[in-house]
Amino acid sequence: MNIPASRVLKFGGTSVADYDAQGRSAQLVANQPESRIVVVSAAAGVTNALVGLSQAKDSATAENFRNLIRDREQHFFDALGEPDALKATYWTLMEELDASGPCAGQARDQLLSLGERFSSLFFAERLRQLGMPAVQLPARFLIATDSQFGHAEPDVARTRQQVQVALNDHQGEILVTEGFVGADIDGNLTTLGRGGSDYSAALLAEGADADWVEIWTDVKGLYTTDPRLAPKARPLAELSFAQAAELATFGAKVLHPKTLWPAMRHDIPVFIGSTLDASGGTVIRREVTGERRYAALALRKNQTLLKITSPEMLYSYGFLARAFTLLAKHQISVDLVTTSEISIALTLDERGSEQALDESVLEELKSLGTIEVQEGLALVALVGDNLNTTPKVAAEVFDALGGINVPLICHGASPHNLCLLVEEKDGPQAIARLHERLFERLKIAAAS
Ligand code: ADP
Ligand code: ASP
Ligand code: MG
Repeated sequence: MNIPASRVLKFGGTSVADYDAQGRSAQLVANQPESRIVVVSAAAGVTNALVGLSQAKDSATAENFRNLIRDREQHFFDALGEPDALKATYWTLMEELDASGPCAGQARDQLLSLGERFSSLFFAERLRQLGMPAVQLPARFLIATDSQFGHAEPDVARTRQQVQVALNDHQGEILVTEGFVGADIDGNLTTLGRGGSDYSAALLAEGADADWVEIWTDVKGLYTTDPRLAPKARPLAELSFAQAAELATFGAKVLHPKTLWPAMRHDIPVFIGSTLDASGGTVIRREVTGERRYAALALRKNQTLLKITSPEMLYSYGFLARAFTLLAKHQISVDLVTTSEISIALTLDERGSEQALDESVLEELKSLGTIEVQEGLALVALVGDNLNTTPKVAAEVFDALGGINVPLICHGASPHNLCLLVEEKDGPQAIARLHERLFERLKIAAAS
């Protein structure tokens, strides 16, 4: 039997950063009778500290990170009045923290999940203190994944089954769970990748047949670009799934890149709003009204450009297939591609470049031709409608960029984006200039 659940609300790190922020978020849940599942992140900074702990080079560094996390979590426990109902779990989590240290693989995921496990324990209690029927349900009973620790892939069918059982078992209650965390078939905790709580919310909404997902954060929606890069950036009232998914993929940190997949599969609108000012926000849905030539800009750092040059490419066939087969063998994922008569230039995503492009792979690539690797680049993406058929788009973009050097441009493959590579140091300025030229001089539909 499918139990209908209408809303999944997710609160990011800044929205549960301290007791006051947690209170504002809990009040938002209380104000909405449709609230059914609440997903919380670790308090802002805690996951970074856990990552630091997992990589600590010496015991003093490890102890510093542990102290930082202990203080943060103790703050919530004290402020909530050290509730008896929480004591056993709270001290078990503290003991786990005390016993932790540098680690990798499965042990690292277990450790990284700690921030969310504390957070959901406290958030459920906060809701109960507001008179809400809230129950904390560990994500390991809800989100089923494979065993790729650090970037686990969800098992959608098993997740759905587990979510339906939980909703059935807890009718009339609000389920509070950890974002970012799941479990593999053997019950080992896994994580979905940094920023993965957004993805958790969408996966749970899919499994619960929810009709609305809310991502509560520190900005009033999806902006025309990261407001930290362009102070005049404006929140967009609405955006299509396709455009928002491109922005998330190309670096708009406000949404984990995979968040919109489950939402698209089940046609569930996703709202993004700010717990600091709950008026306004962005709604992402299948159909949006009107066409928008320029929707938004995104910046993704840490890009690597790989260039393979070989005269063999000239008038031959199968060269690209050989190059891609070799990259696929090493699980290197390629983002952008351009070719000339005798060369291919392509970019690798962050994970690809950090982990995979080691000496042995480079040696193998040399069998194809001369290899050049350029690191320290940033990807600038302009997302909009019909960019490939609208005259003057490229002219406007290059005019705005002025003298900024662009080692690679991809335009035309998608009607929704135009991507450029720039040196990482030029990234923020490229965004600021493009924003000024393409957005601040035009009227943009704002959320509020
Ligand atoms: P949370 O901890 O709530 O998940 P994140 O830090 O992951 O929040 O994401 C929110 C941040 O995303 C914002 O503070 C903003 O700086 C950044 N951001 C990047 N691109 C955009 C964009 N296009 N619109 C809004 N915010 C953006
Ligand atoms: N706490 C995790 C992180 O910082 C997940 C999240 O916040 O979405 O990456
Ligand atoms: Mg986030």
